[in-house]
Amino acid sequence: MEILEVKKQKTMLDNVLEQFNKTADSMNLNSNIRKILSITNNEIIIHFPVKMDNGNVEIFTGYRVQHNNALGPYKGGLRYHPTVDVDDAKALAMWMTWKTSLAGLPYGGAKGGIQIDPRNYSLSELERITRRFTYALGDNIGSEYDIPAPDVNTNEQTMAWMADTFMSTKSPNERSNHKHVVTGKPVGSGGLEGRDRATGFGVYLTLRLLFEGRNETLKGKKFIVQGYGNVGYWASHFLNNDGAILIATQDAHATLINTNGISVEDLYEHCKPRKGSTKGFEGATEMNPDDFFGLECDFIIPAALGNQITEKNADKIKSKIIAEGANGPINNEAEHILLNKNVTIIPDILCNSGGVIGSYFEWLQNRNGELWPLDEVMFKIEKKLTINYKRVEKLANTNKIDWRTAAYTIAISRIETAYIERGIFP
Ligand code: GLU
Repeated sequence: MEILEVKKQKTMLDNVLEQFNKTADSMNLNSNIRKILSITNNEIIIHFPVKMDNGNVEIFTGYRVQHNNALGPYKGGLRYHPTVDVDDAKALAMWMTWKTSLAGLPYGGAKGGIQIDPRNYSLSELERITRRFTYALGDNIGSEYDIPAPDVNTNEQTMAWMADTFMSTKSPNERSNHKHVVTGKPVGSGGLEGRDRATGFGVYLTLRLLFEGRNETLKGKKFIVQGYGNVGYWASHFLNNDGAILIATQDAHATLINTNGISVEDLYEHCKPRKGSTKGFEGATEMNPDDFFGLECDFIIPAALGNQITEKNADKIKSKIIAEGANGPINNEAEHILLNKNVTIIPDILCNSGGVIGSYFEWLQNRNGELWPLDEVMFKIEKKLTINYKRVEKLANTNKIDWRTAAYTIAISRIETAYIERGIFP
């Protein structure tokens, strides 16, 4: 009898666990702590009904996975996307634990979302879906326990609905103590000036620091961006201000090229009324999506979803620098190929950590009843991220290891120290 071998497609969870185990081996991580960090503490799956505009009820599935809280409350985004499932949420929650630890924040890691394509719903339906999900999550989230934030296809509006719903369930005199149950809120509702651009700014800053380390500037450098949402746009905006040239973009609807430079701001204006889609932009021409990552350029910013650069397309890549705006955009097989080609990868947990650093400042601001101006916020993000960047750079150079392993080593060591200091209850 013929035995059919079905080769399972590797998931983001496989990816993050392999990254973790590689670092755990190289740093000889305490075996008990390795066991603890290999699992996620809590996985919450909620099915909830929402009434649609046409009067029918639809059932939705929402997730919140809390990986680890050794360093502080769980922290991480909520995404609205058809690919959201418990395994992806587990992987993304783990990445948040490493990210917050590396960033030196008093947080653990969590992630979640709802398995929907938000473009299929009206604004009022999205509001009801968000509010009902928040209500169903109940005290599984909390301003000192688990603090969600925006992620793929969620934004400050989503966070405003969440904060309002959560606070409405609390008694009147303690309502304002719960404002920081989510971060990434609109400025008028307790949000932080600059939180909108924090992630993209961080991506830009890590690239600027990389070039500075080589005695180069961003001026005239050509780059391509996958995903032109909040991260892709703001990163392009800051890079462009320093003279770098955006030559191609890719999203789910179109792959665009203009080797003379795409106008970052015009493309953003084009996307706004089209629910984020770049399709139909007149300042560039459409090209074959399969040739995107192989374009001749100085650096690539994947700023969309995970598992975009794999063993199937890594060989084609000519750029020598990749800055991971997204979480987990490069799988381990591709990373192996790229490192052999001497490509420098600025890993997600460093590259896109400007967002959660901004979230931390928003949380502090709410907790202390303060309001910080934009320039102060940007200064603080730049200062914190630069310190983190230099630590990773130094470790990678001293130990002659790749940047991801260096970043993971710093992140995991901090958690290891916390466990060793306080032991395991009981
Ligand atoms: N969703 C963002 C991330 O993946 C931000 C998380 C946060 O601010 O809590 O880092």
